[in-house]
Amino acid sequence: MTEKPSKAMPVIGIDLGTTNSAAATIIEGKPRLIPSPEGAQGILPSVVHRPAGGGTVVGSTAEAAKIAMPESTISAVKRSMGSDVTLALGDETLRPEEVSSLIVRELKRWALDYLQLEPAQKLEAVITVPAYFNEAQRRATKLAGELAGFKVDRIVNEPTAAAMAFGLGRADEDARYLVYDLGGGTFDVSIVETFSGILEVQASTGDSQLGGEDFDWLLVGWLAEEVRKEHDIDPLEDLRAKALLKQKAEETKKQLSYDEKVELVIPLLCFKDDEPVGLTRTITRSMFDEMILPLLEKTMEHVEDVLSQAEAEAADVTHVLLVGGSTRIPRVKEMMTERFGRPPRDDVHPDEAVALGAAVQAGMKAGLIGSDTLITTDVAPFSMGVAAMQHQPDGTMVPDRFAVVIPRNTTIPATRTNTFYTLAPGQTAVAIRVFQGESGWVEENHYLGEFSLEGLPLNFAEQEEVEVTFAYNLNGLLEVSARSPKNRREMSISIEDEFDRDSQEAFLRSVQRIRDLEMDTPSTVPGSTVEYEQPELPNLFDDFDDEDGESSPAELMEETRALLLRAKAILDELDEPSRADIQQCLQDCEKALEEENYDILEELADRLFAAIMDVELEDDA
Ligand code: ADP
Ligand code: MG
Repeated sequence: MTEKPSKAMPVIGIDLGTTNSAAATIIEGKPRLIPSPEGAQGILPSVVHRPAGGGTVVGSTAEAAKIAMPESTISAVKRSMGSDVTLALGDETLRPEEVSSLIVRELKRWALDYLQLEPAQKLEAVITVPAYFNEAQRRATKLAGELAGFKVDRIVNEPTAAAMAFGLGRADEDARYLVYDLGGGTFDVSIVETFSGILEVQASTGDSQLGGEDFDWLLVGWLAEEVRKEHDIDPLEDLRAKALLKQKAEETKKQLSYDEKVELVIPLLCFKDDEPVGLTRTITRSMFDEMILPLLEKTMEHVEDVLSQAEAEAADVTHVLLVGGSTRIPRVKEMMTERFGRPPRDDVHPDEAVALGAAVQAGMKAGLIGSDTLITTDVAPFSMGVAAMQHQPDGTMVPDRFAVVIPRNTTIPATRTNTFYTLAPGQTAVAIRVFQGESGWVEENHYLGEFSLEGLPLNFAEQEEVEVTFAYNLNGLLEVSARSPKNRREMSISIEDEFDRDSQEAFLRSVQRIRDLEMDTPSTVPGSTVEYEQPELPNLFDDFDDEDGESSPAELMEETRALLLRAKAILDELDEPSRADIQQCLQDCEKALEEENYDILEELADRLFAAIMDVELEDDA
């Protein structure tokens, strides 16, 4: 006798974009965009404004305030996510994740209204990020969701979500999608494959600093130069004139997606010697195309790069999907049509696909969407490894080389072990320094953390073995452990774990600050001790409980199904006895799934995972 999965918490998929954000949920098994309570609009401009009278405003009202009051308005905050900068919002100073949390809170308000829920209702969210986001950027995004009061278990790559929205209900079709996502601030291109019901990102690349905003600024630069030539003043030195030019440039750019030429008229841009200065220019589509060509070519280089990473030719791509507002630019469609010899599909809504796909992911995780649809697996967006000495052909040793343990684009979850050796005779401790990135030198990569393993047995130089194991899961949590096979000493760290422990206090302060800001009571002085209302705060350690084997039945079932498909995919290539072993384990798992016998399912799934890892590791060797 087993228990049925309990009624799940409502789930929301969130596309937290540089320019626009959106949320979707699952209604009767189907993803639906959540409209704002005030109107039919389901797209929220990612702009935050602090009016002179206090409080905060998010969305189109904030966007409108940008020109008149640029000092008290923040846009494109996504570009600073994961960095240490602080941003000025009128009289306040906020961290990027705090600003983002105000955007997420607005979407939460929409969701509560749409689903007719009480404000105190707990909601779970899946939030998307560009595939190219690094660990720090992903953590900041998760934090933004938690600060807004969501339970955030999973951060999903935007292209995976987009393909999900598109691929739902087509699980039977074996296909390869190329997802080209050009938004306001980021560019991503990925190859996503569906076969036997699995949806898998094969390869992903992109640029976290390239998008429609850059096109706007190129046009602004050109317009400012025209003003300079005509009036000998720099309009960009005037904050308001600069914001006005930016707004007009964007309007013009959008219009050029539909018209061959646009008449830009700004009667009053700024003043020179108390005289008003205006600007009138005709801009043609081909002028604009020429301006942005170098940037579009850059995106095409990434397209080539992703094809070669996936070892695919253009002809291997079944469908080309265009996602993101900037793919409305006709030149983008032309370039992709030229490259792939056929037009991209246009049945995916470029503004909604990511949010809808995130909702599908969230719905599957919560068991709200049937398992006869797609199952996603993801890939590691970066290589992960440790610092090590490297032998040179001439016999010398070079320090600080990057030894990869989990290569980029490895299907996750994944566990990999590499063996290293002590360097000096009698060395009894080793430092394990963990990095992520693609450079051969650790200092050019992103530092994640370190620890040391002590108490190794005495031995000759370069003789004593240390096994280093990396385990990377679907939620982007990396666990690194080091072990001496001889005396079994072991040490490990969990990268996200360390981060959260350090920042719990900062988190509490942030929640309070944001609330104060919205309610407009004076902000708490950082560092002061204040009593917080504990019950309303999300538990930062929720995840770790989950990781320790307490996944929900729906999660466990989803994970097991993904494993089953992975195991079946490799079964044919196997020799006895591993083939028989995996076959047996597969059957046991299927039986337990059918009987909803969660008690033994977990253990069987672990065994199956270990067996798959063994085989995949042998393949690598
Ligand atoms: P993000 O995912 O970065 O939030 P979006 O996918 O919402 O971005 O795309 C926003 C970008 O798309 C903005 O730079 C906007 O100017 C641009 N955009 C929207 N509509 C058009 C259009 N018709 N032509 C060209 N660019 C457009
Ligand atoms: Mg986007």
